Amino acid sequence: MTKYIFVTGGVVSSVGKGITVASIGTILKSRGISVSVQKLDPYLNVDPGIMSPYQHGEVFVTRDGAETDLDLGNYERFIDIELTADSNVTSGQIYSTVIARERRGDFMGGTVQVIPHVTTEIKGRLRQLAQKSQAEVVLVEVGGTVGDIEDQPFLEAIRQMRNDVGRDNVLYIHVTLVPYIGSTRELKTKPTQHSVGELRRMGIQPDVIICRADYPISEAIRDKISLFCDVERRAVIPLVTVDSIYEVPLVLEEESLGDYLVERLGLPAAKPDLADWRHMVGCLRESRDPVSIVLVGKYVELEDAYFSVREALCHAGLFHGRTINLTWLHSEELEKNGELPIALRSAQGIIVPGGFGERGIEGMIKTVRYARENKIPYFGLCLGMQLMIIEFARYAFASDKPHSTEFDPATAYPVISLMPEQKLVSDKGGTMRLGNHPCHLVPDTRAAAAYGAEQKVVQERHRHRFEFNNDYRGTLSQAGLVFSGLSPDGRLAEICELAGHPWMLACQFHPEFLSRPNRPHPLFRDFIGAAKDVLREGAQPTLPLAAEE
Ligand code: GLN
Repeated sequence: MTKYIFVTGGVVSSVGKGITVASIGTILKSRGISVSVQKLDPYLNVDPGIMSPYQHGEVFVTRDGAETDLDLGNYERFIDIELTADSNVTSGQIYSTVIARERRGDFMGGTVQVIPHVTTEIKGRLRQLAQKSQAEVVLVEVGGTVGDIEDQPFLEAIRQMRNDVGRDNVLYIHVTLVPYIGSTRELKTKPTQHSVGELRRMGIQPDVIICRADYPISEAIRDKISLFCDVERRAVIPLVTVDSIYEVPLVLEEESLGDYLVERLGLPAAKPDLADWRHMVGCLRESRDPVSIVLVGKYVELEDAYFSVREALCHAGLFHGRTINLTWLHSEELEKNGELPIALRSAQGIIVPGGFGERGIEGMIKTVRYARENKIPYFGLCLGMQLMIIEFARYAFASDKPHSTEFDPATAYPVISLMPEQKLVSDKGGTMRLGNHPCHLVPDTRAAAAYGAEQKVVQERHRHRFEFNNDYRGTLSQAGLVFSGLSPDGRLAEICELAGHPWMLACQFHPEFLSRPNRPHPLFRDFIGAAKDVLREGAQPTLPLAAEE
């Protein structure tokens, strides 16, 4: 029988609830316990697919093609599992299912209500994941903050679960912020007390409180939270901000959270094996020579928009014993005339990630040209591949006309165009080419070398509507563009690289989603491998964007 751990958040958002959930997964898995994870998102969008990255951060794509919350990326990286659409449930999905059933007449003339109809649908989703994954423990993160109106049906559903599956099979963890008041130099527990009060009003008494803080939490503070919130002293877990998110599982383990969870849920009490994780964190803490990488995109003000890319770079850096000095450049800034920013002129590697829409496109193309002409390692992801092809076509045809029909529908050289199967699609949500698709590697290419001789076909995750237009394959191949990864029917260009350049490669898929801290993605690994040996003059800037302007 599956046990459930429900994690709620209190006081404020962005306290690192997702990382905490992922880390709990790590410490349970290290005891040989099978784990699956689910995120409940209270918003009314069906999924984050068409939400602005500024609102939501990155859209994480699962192997079965669901567009999901970026926390799923952290669950996959921390627990080293692959999740599916079942792992991200939104209010939008719940309500649209319930309303569709009402229209079908499924409720036999009854009045359709939040309790029981909406809560029953939510519980059905919880059970569905438990059943499909057969995991011993399903970790459920409730998005939002306790007290939000949107959260209430989810809180009510997880409350009901206690009776449905039995008290011994569920456990509630509340993650709160313990703020620091500068003038009196004190940490304050009152917001935590209020938040637990709010949770109790919904009928939920937390079993564990995880206290996020920027300063060490004293024994007295722990005692106070234990007393006022009626939580066992050993279940008040301090989680002080650490340098790297990958340290969090070790902090929780140090506080014996793993043993406590196992004891309370009656799970087999095996000794945790965190040796590999500890080794990885040890390497992270060591001082390493930097590699200067520049990321050029249009959502750089919000680093969460490229969460998996940043992590994949970090993993690849770890592999090579290097730290990644990542500078974020706004593509629109690069469209201005004048000298290129020092960060770009001293970059050892350049990356253009995925994106949509016209804003900043010419700045990205300028970046690609700079990488090609100056022989700087370049890695393009999805849009980054389309722009590498556009830039190369502009060079090969000696014309500034080649473009994608996404940005210039009437271009004379549509080197990137809408996939035929997309032509009749009108809905925006969930209609792109999504999820895993096989890619055949072409022998004797950089791509094939990266994945290794034994890999002839790889599965990679996709999220795009536009593709390379094969009418140009012959001409561009002759000019030096190598198509090194193709769909099984040979039609779709999945990877391309440039002959005669030290390392200029791009892919139509999103390799960043498959990278793990202990197992970097081969393409990221080789990109950093190429970049680390590049010698550049000038400073190696680590300044944030604001200082660049
Ligand atoms: N906008 C491009 C497309 O739809 C690229 C998408 C992406 O980078 N994820 O094909």
